[in-house]
Amino acid sequence: MAHAIRIHATGGPEVMAFEEVAVGEPGPGQALVRHTAIGVNYIDTYHRGGMYPLPLPTGLGNEAAGVVEAVGDGVDWIKPGDRVGSCTGPLGAYSTARIVPADRLIKLPDGIDDRSAAAIMLKGLTVQYLIRQTYPLQGGETILFHAAAGGVGLIACQWARALGVTMIGTASTDEKAALAREHGCTHTIVYTRENFVERVKEITGGKGVPVVYDGVGKDTFPASLDCLSPRGMFVSFGNASGPVAAFNLGMLAQKGSLYATRPTLVNYATDRTSLNAMAKEVFDMVRAGKIKADVRQTFPLAAAADAHRALQSRQTTGSTLLLP
Ligand code: NDP
Repeated sequence: MAHAIRIHATGGPEVMAFEEVAVGEPGPGQALVRHTAIGVNYIDTYHRGGMYPLPLPTGLGNEAAGVVEAVGDGVDWIKPGDRVGSCTGPLGAYSTARIVPADRLIKLPDGIDDRSAAAIMLKGLTVQYLIRQTYPLQGGETILFHAAAGGVGLIACQWARALGVTMIGTASTDEKAALAREHGCTHTIVYTRENFVERVKEITGGKGVPVVYDGVGKDTFPASLDCLSPRGMFVSFGNASGPVAAFNLGMLAQKGSLYATRPTLVNYATDRTSLNAMAKEVFDMVRAGKIKADVRQTFPLAAAADAHRALQSRQTTGSTLLLP
């Protein structure tokens, strides 16, 4: 029998129940995967809490690595015994085993162990699209990246360094700021006590940055816009502190003919081809030693609620895993 974390109502971490579930056999185009490591992502808390509404009851979780146990008709690109991962849904990765559409599976290459994969697929693919597609960095730029010691943040620090980008990263504590610098962030701002707009202006000699990557949301808006140089781009990719409040589009004109985008991974990894190309780039960066998957916290799957409490109370750094 498999087990899964499920919710029957939205709410705090306590709504997550560890339940026995029937898995069944994979149908056409599907695969049965037994999980060995599960990635925890901030979006899981939005699903659990109801910020992103879902039909209930539901499973949770977008990211897991494991081994294929069986495939359905028409699946010829993976086979039982293959090590695979997934990070673009459907929800239900918080489970010991599950059936998924096989076109969402990424084959894990040698040199990428299961725990590293579960720590770096969703967050690494996010960094890939943010800095290579949404606002492609060439090297030589100075950028602002919020929550630089988080899961997405520590990967961004390393990737920016590899590209020759000067990254200004924010974090809530001196310890987190030091961790971001160890991972390649050039300048850090402790935004719980320093005014990050003033510090960015100081670091850039008054010019501002061409792009701000903002996964914090409510608490850093609209100040993030004031860090941009004219025609700069505001990339709002998350809501760790709550969603950005509605604003008048005219604000973008007043603050320097700015661009703003609110991207999500599923609009970049839209099919098997783009998913695999993005994953290959992430895994190649890991295998070249340019970035590493930082598993900094693990919890038993049954204790997923504790993982959410830690993430939402800003206790975590880097990636967090659930172990089935
Ligand atoms: P993190 O590990 O970065 O955790 C969130 C961090 O946000 C915290 O550690 C904390 O860092 C910071 N933060 C600032 N204000 C708050 C607050 N009020 N409550 C809690 N945390 C706060 O999470 P992830 O790496 O999983 O995700 C980072 C962001 O990226 C999230 O917003 C997530 O939704 C988004 N995301 C978006 C994707 C997309 O495609 N759009 C895909 C993947 C992630 P500190 O203590 O230093 O302030």
